[in-house]
Amino acid sequence: MKYQKRRHIKLMMCALPILVIFLLSYCIISVSALLGGIDINGKADNNNALNIADAGQQTPTNATTEGWQLLLVNSKNSLPNDFTVTLKQLKDGHSVDERCFADLNNMLSDCRAAGLQPLICSSYRTQAKQQQLFDDQVRKLTKQGYSSKAATELAAQSVATPGTSEHQTGLAVDIVDAHYQMLDALQADTATQQWLMNNSWKYGFILRYPEDKTHITGIQYEPWHYRYVGKEAAKEMYEQGLCLEEYLAGKASK
Ligand SMILES: [Zn+2]
Repeated sequence: MKYQKRRHIKLMMCALPILVIFLLSYCIISVSALLGGIDINGKADNNNALNIADAGQQTPTNATTEGWQLLLVNSKNSLPNDFTVTLKQLKDGHSVDERCFADLNNMLSDCRAAGLQPLICSSYRTQAKQQQLFDDQVRKLTKQGYSSKAATELAAQSVATPGTSEHQTGLAVDIVDAHYQMLDALQADTATQQWLMNNSWKYGFILRYPEDKTHITGIQYEPWHYRYVGKEAAKEMYEQGLCLEEYLAGKASK
């Protein structure tokens, strides 16, 4: 018994300094975390980097995820729950993911240099904004006499249901010709769209919902909606006439 007691004391004497060192390092890490804006789990404190428009909906970042520019968002693939984006504002007040900002700016200025007048009419949207657009559309259809179920189904064909709009990624922009600002098929005939359709891939953008892919994208022809996918993917998709769904399916099967 006496021997055992002595052994216990010996063990405690050994463990005590280790415990003290552990507690001391924890305190030091905590203090430096507070000063440096890093939490104890080592994650960067992103509060300052969050977007200007709606910090409220932003949660942990997936900004460093590889292949961020190929994020697929459609009616079957909702935006990830932990999605967040760091936005950068263009001169016209529209915001996009800061990582495609420079390419978008270059595309627009080269388009202008060609004597055209591209105009962004929609860019990044918050979940709240998308919800509002969707609800407005449902209300409009209900007023026209549709039942609420039918109105909701019909609305989804022209306005993406919240959480499934590419505009929520910050990687999509709607661009129209200043001389013809209607969002209809005739937009395709404008000089600005002709230039964008031929050149956007050089800047990493694709016309996301082409006329001959509606059965795959599930979205009507939108000759104004451009999506950033990066230069490499945009070139491949342009040259091979693929939409994003086809491009990703091809990559997955390789
Ligand atoms: Zn759009």
